[in-house]
Amino acid sequence: DNPIARKPDWIRVKAPNHPTYHETRKLMRDNKLVTVCEEAACPNIGECWTQRHATMMIMGEICTRACAFCNVTTGLPNALDHDEPQRVADAVAKLGLRHVVITSVDRDDLRDGGAEHFARVIAAIRLASPETTIEILTPDFLRKPGALEVVVAAKPDVFNHNIETVPRLYPTIRPGARYYQSLRLLDRVKQIDPSIFTKSGLMLGLGEEKMELAQVMDDFRIADVDFITMGQYLQPTVKHAAVARFVTPDEFGEYATMARVKGFLQVSATPLTRSSYHADADFAALRAA
Ligand code: SF4
Ligand code: SF4
Repeated sequence: DNPIARKPDWIRVKAPNHPTYHETRKLMRDNKLVTVCEEAACPNIGECWTQRHATMMIMGEICTRACAFCNVTTGLPNALDHDEPQRVADAVAKLGLRHVVITSVDRDDLRDGGAEHFARVIAAIRLASPETTIEILTPDFLRKPGALEVVVAAKPDVFNHNIETVPRLYPTIRPGARYYQSLRLLDRVKQIDPSIFTKSGLMLGLGEEKMELAQVMDDFRIADVDFITMGQYLQPTVKHAAVARFVTPDEFGEYATMARVKGFLQVSATPLTRSSYHADADFAALRAA
């Protein structure tokens, strides 16, 4: 087991207790929806849910992968729920979201990795809330030929796939995945449909070096990745990878500057940045620019 390090002062977050937080929670329960906010024990849940910004996780609560940083349960998932796209769309409409982020567990057990289900969710949201911009945060579709094309054809506004960490740390942190598979996925999205914004992110504090991070940013730019997010990794339980280091807010600031210089259209790099954190406001600002 890995003991959990005490968090520095800059990581403290407020306990959720706003009435809107409870409304968002009830809506998720009533629509039988799973959220990554809860499954990943995200520290921003109080702030996000108070603004009705919940990131729904489709295709169940059980993942076929076992990443060393992730709080989601590993195992054999249940069959797909074919009513889920409509329930997600209903929730998005009720929340009145101008931008929604939809993510999922990995479904290596499915022939298409869940690509068709993603496409159905996008179509259902478009029908129910035509004004809402849609960001999807997908699995890597490793060994699922044709899957990516199905998701891209559904035309999400933002295609997000997290690279999570630098290539050297993949064998220990992301053993089921391949760095170049993830990079190639992002590259392919842009090649198939350049009108879709692409986005990726990393967790810092897992032992990565500054030069390695700079290399990942360069790899992203070569693959035409538009947006980048970087946040502090927090260890969910003693069974998960230990935090190697708490990266200071100043260092995050330096990484943000580095990313802007390298030409990303949108950069979010703070200790509490998560893939979906402030995604709505950031995307609205970009469209207005
Ligand atoms: Fe949910 Fe993302 Fe907000 Fe965390 S940052 S609470 S995962 S929407
Ligand atoms: Fe968690 Fe995603 Fe890894 Fe599954 S693939 S264990 S949901 S990070």
